[in-house]
Amino acid sequence: MITDKFGRPLQDLRISIIDRCNFRCTYCMPKEIFGKDFAFMPKEQLLSFEEIERLAKNFVELGIRKIRLTGGEPLLRRDLPVLIEQLARLHDLEDIALTTNGFLLGALANKLKDAGLHRVNVSLDALDDRAFKEINDSGVGPARILRGITKAQEAGLEVKVNMVVKKGMNDSQIVPMASYFKEQGITLRYIEFMDVGQTNGWDFSKVITKKEILEELCKHFSLEPVEPNYIGEVAKRYRYAGTSTEVGFITSVSESFCSTCTRARVAADGKVYTCLFSEGGFDFRELLRTGKSDEEIKTAIMNIWNSREDRYSDERTEESAKNKKKIEMSYIGG
Ligand code: SAM
Repeated sequence: MITDKFGRPLQDLRISIIDRCNFRCTYCMPKEIFGKDFAFMPKEQLLSFEEIERLAKNFVELGIRKIRLTGGEPLLRRDLPVLIEQLARLHDLEDIALTTNGFLLGALANKLKDAGLHRVNVSLDALDDRAFKEINDSGVGPARILRGITKAQEAGLEVKVNMVVKKGMNDSQIVPMASYFKEQGITLRYIEFMDVGQTNGWDFSKVITKKEILEELCKHFSLEPVEPNYIGEVAKRYRYAGTSTEVGFITSVSESFCSTCTRARVAADGKVYTCLFSEGGFDFRELLRTGKSDEEIKTAIMNIWNSREDRYSDERTEESAKNKKKIEMSYIGG
């Protein structure tokens, strides 16, 4: 097990496999910035499947047991099941998950499951048709995403739903989302609106905290806290009393969890980051494309992790949130 300067082990890996997305969620990839002229990465700049597999193998040999694929929108990457098959063959890798907006999930769920995917987190910020269309700014209603969720369940994938909550955007959806997914027996996780990137107009006043959401939920449901499954579990979990259905909170703003963060991130161009709020990454595509050996790649990973001392969310202030240069979520991978 390798650890960083604060003793945090390297345990899980998030890999962004594409920087493009088919949605233009106003808080993530607003159309004014990510418009027709936006320069996404050309294909040759993205890591190939072989490069992703080789990098992942080296991470697994250093102790990684979980990999999550994300983006951009990962289902836009052509032949994704082939990549999943390659990863599923990695010895010692226990868990392969995917984060998606669900638009293409209905068509791909069976193939993804057959390839070896275990779990999928579907992002859905509202059930109300108009509200959801306004958020994704791409004219897509929630019905299609809900169908994708059903298909994923039918395929045998474990499904959770993630909802970013932003003041003035979808406050009214907090309770309807809870009711619907409680009924479905699907875990819903509320994500506090974070100050990632430079383009989403974040400030503290737009954050609805876990405490506020929980207060609202407790007016309608009886909830009991659930003990974490393991140290470093990101979501704070609750259960609807008398059921096994859970609801969770990702509290990166109000109750940061840097001290137990065990995650490294690979961006779509092969740069490795140790924090979602990093300013810069380490170019592993260069190492992969210049004939470096697996030993050299592992040494580079170890050096980066051993010298890691970031704890951005613990140290966040209104000023750092506004002024620190940060990388866009669609590039580094959400
Ligand atoms: N396209 C995929 C999806 O929609 O899930 C994967 C990438 S997306 C960047 C991953 C997640 O990040 C989504 O759930 C999205 O809502 C969330 N996200 C984007 N910007 C965010 C922000 N500023 N604060 C909190 N979550 C954010």
